[in-house]
Amino acid sequence: MSLRKKQSEFVREVGSLILFAYEIGYELTFGDTYPGKFKHKANSYHGKGLAIDLNLFKNGKYLTSWEAHKPLGEYWELMGGSWGGRWDMNIRQPGHQGDGNHYSWGEGKTFKKNTPETRPNQEQAF
Ligand SMILES: [Zn+2]
Repeated sequence: MSLRKKQSEFVREVGSLILFAYEIGYELTFGDTYPGKFKHKANSYHGKGLAIDLNLFKNGKYLTSWEAHKPLGEYWELMGGSWGGRWDMNIRQPGHQGDGNHYSWGEGKTFKKNTPETRPNQEQAF
């Protein structure tokens, strides 16, 4: 699949993720998508146009925790995406559970904590 097609697939799936977030009572704003003045490198998934950081709000409150993003992360994984909340950053940053606001597409990578045991079943996520 070409990068352009993969980018379009990613955008379509992000649309679904956004609708799901609103259905369960969240509001969102966009964080980083493409590189440039942001913190991401050109060869990262952000650089390829295949990752997005979403800022999460509920009842007007900005939520930054890994736990708050978890329903969206699990939904995203069911759709085939990779969720930054699975990144094990505990070694580098004790107490920090991954990058919960990061959603990427097409990595085809299973993160350390993303095992069949930790993955949600359909009933839990929907
Ligand atoms: Zn990110």
